[in-house]
Amino acid sequence: MGSEDLVCACCSGLVIEGRCPTCRASREYLRRNSTPPSPQLLLAILVIVMVLAALAVRHAT
Ligand SMILES: [Zn+2]
Repeated sequence: MGSEDLVCACCSGLVIEGRCPTCRASREYLRRNSTPPSPQLLLAILVIVMVLAALAVRHAT
């Protein structure tokens, strides 16, 4: 599983496509950490994306 396959929890698009602010933030995070992603790192990114998505939903209401 590569970083290109990450799906955004906010817009359900590929994170690498950068369709929403959450995608772009995650993509920037991945770029800065250019080392091959470990399962732990992917899990951390997933948690970050989910938290950002929850915040976005809360902000929208
Ligand atoms: Zn997104």
